Amino acid sequence: MHYPEPISKLIDSFMKLPGIGPKTAGRLAFFVLSMKEDTVLDFAKALVDAKRNLRFCSVCGHITDIDPCHICQDKQRDGTTICVVQDPKDVIALEKMRDYNGLYHVLHGAISPMDGIGPEDINVPSLLTRLQDEEVVELILATNPTIEGEATAMYISRLVRPSGIRTTRIAHGLPVGGDLEYADEVTLSKALEGRREL
Ligand SMILES: [Zn+2]
Repeated sequence: MHYPEPISKLIDSFMKLPGIGPKTAGRLAFFVLSMKEDTVLDFAKALVDAKRNLRFCSVCGHITDIDPCHICQDKQRDGTTICVVQDPKDVIALEKMRDYNGLYHVLHGAISPMDGIGPEDINVPSLLTRLQDEEVVELILATNPTIEGEATAMYISRLVRPSGIRTTRIAHGLPVGGDLEYADEVTLSKALEGRREL
């Protein structure tokens, strides 16, 4: 079907989002046309602001609007424990559970030799710097239960072991091959509680 250019541009923009095909994109585009202009402007501004004002925390790598992030700045949190995750979304999932009071370190990926991703390509060097500078007692390796996630946990554990810092791995019970962010809060809480020494 031939649409006026502004509409086809809007449809193309929606199609850049994950899980949105041409049909949904078309529906969303026409919905936008029916919205009040103020609402559309607010929506557009929210998109741009989120992109412009959010950055990664220079300490932990979590997504934030202030640097260091709220979690790193929170003096009530236990700075002796760092939970290592692959993605900012994992921090959000773990925070929802409210059981964990330590800090985080977001790797932004996992080691995957097949894809040419080594430890230097993810936030491993910054983790090692933190372990030198901060009084860390335990490192909880909460990378995803996938081959890459397991390999990354093993790699970090081996690297850290000589320093005497305790490294633990979150328990199974998480779906193998699944992402941490999709686990429900009870499963996540149990996985954290049942973590074992590496
Ligand atoms: Zn932070």
